[in-house]
Amino acid sequence: KMTAWYNGSFIDPDTAVIPIQERGHQFGDGIYEVIRVYSGMPFAMEDHLDRLEKSAAAVRLTLPMPREELEALLLEALERSGGEEAEIYLQITRGIHPRNHAFPKEDRPALSIIVSPARVLPEEEQENGIRVITTEDKRWTQCWIKSLNLLPNVLAKQEAVEQGAREALLIRDGIVTEGSSTNVFLLRSGTLYTHPATEGILHGITRDRIIRAAAEADIPVVEETFTTDALFDAEEVFITSTTLEAAPVCEINGRTTGSSFPGTMKLRNLLQQQIRKEQNQ
Ligand code: PMP
Repeated sequence: KMTAWYNGSFIDPDTAVIPIQERGHQFGDGIYEVIRVYSGMPFAMEDHLDRLEKSAAAVRLTLPMPREELEALLLEALERSGGEEAEIYLQITRGIHPRNHAFPKEDRPALSIIVSPARVLPEEEQENGIRVITTEDKRWTQCWIKSLNLLPNVLAKQEAVEQGAREALLIRDGIVTEGSSTNVFLLRSGTLYTHPATEGILHGITRDRIIRAAAEADIPVVEETFTTDALFDAEEVFITSTTLEAAPVCEINGRTTGSSFPGTMKLRNLLQQQIRKEQNQ
């Protein structure tokens, strides 16, 4: 069942009220993570907490508790939820203070945790691919920070949904940066391409795992930018995220781009092997 924590206690997710002067909701002044749980065990927890610490430092936010305590609390929330195939959402904001842009004098960060059932991509789309669109990347320059300011991502995703697609690939100056909530890969002549881990994209944990999987499969990886045209010239395009794992793309802007995805499937299987292996450690 859905389980939630806010600022010091477990709360009822259906009736919880966030204080009106929470900086998370007034300014989006905070950061977050999403961790996937397989068979009751969080996957890549340390990678997520590493990234959380980096995001926190980047926006000069102190974590509300030591990392070990945070980790223990996440596990307690998970246990209370009874979740087996689940997602842990956590966010940290600069807390509850009278509205004023500048940092509050006193450091009182607020932590939210929500554990809910995992959203899983329907089997049909996992196998036959998903539809995506391209749209302009209108975000700021610091997309490597997993900040709560997701308005451009929300607008891009909504544009995709209204066009019958599942994801919007973001284009900045002709370059495909990433998806609104995913990283983008393409396979061409046996080589795997993805945008380099610059400040302009989120350094996806799944992105990293797929790069590792490619190394295992002896598939060369090129972390270089590519254009929208390159998407159409590729043999396979796929997107990655904690919740999607690796999902093949079959259609871009209404144009069919592929119907079989041997490379994507191979990498996805290797990712799933990594998941199972870590499960058993
Ligand atoms: N890019 C963006 C903009 C995202 O929001 C996400 C999902 N959090 C990703 C990429 C994928 O990252 P991860 O593999 O760590 O879930």
